Amino acid sequence: MVEQSAHHLLEPVLEPQCSAKGCRAPAAWQLLWNNPKLHTPEYRKTWLACDDHRVSLGDFLGARRFLRDVAPFPAAADAPIS
Ligand SMILES: [Zn+2]
Repeated sequence: MVEQSAHHLLEPVLEPQCSAKGCRAPAAWQLLWNNPKLHTPEYRKTWLACDDHRVSLGDFLGARRFLRDVAPFPAAADAPIS
């Protein structure tokens, strides 16, 4: 097996990946969320999710009332990702 962890830190991520811990699947969804304790109301954090993790990540954010929107990824080419 190739040790990839250190290598991974040095390389830019070329392909957007799922934000779930330990998951390297390509992102298929973007979850837009806001933590009112940390963020201004119009700010949106973006988590990317694969098909398998869209529900679990969405549930995690939804249980905390942070989830604002779920959209397919990639979205329109001019949509900013922050
Ligand atoms: Zn995933």
